[in-house]
Amino acid sequence: MKKPEIDLTNCVLCEICTDYCPSVFRLNVAGFVEVMELEEYPEADINEVIKNCRGDCLFWVENEYCINAG
Ligand code: SF4
Repeated sequence: MKKPEIDLTNCVLCEICTDYCPSVFRLNVAGFVEVMELEEYPEADINEVIKNCRGDCLFWVENEYCINAG
């Protein structure tokens, strides 16, 4: 499964990702953007955010690891 990742060293906290896709991106208590753990990510919406990310620091990774509750 593909998962969005953030290179926080280049994130300028423009909050485009958290505004456009609040179900995927959120600001954590430390003030950094983080990606929520979801079973699926809305690909078209995230591609739009990737295009508009001011820090050019969002990208997809292949996530081979499976979240299993038991
Ligand atoms: S859109 Fe990019 S630069 Fe803006 S807050 Fe999100 S990750 Fe950071």
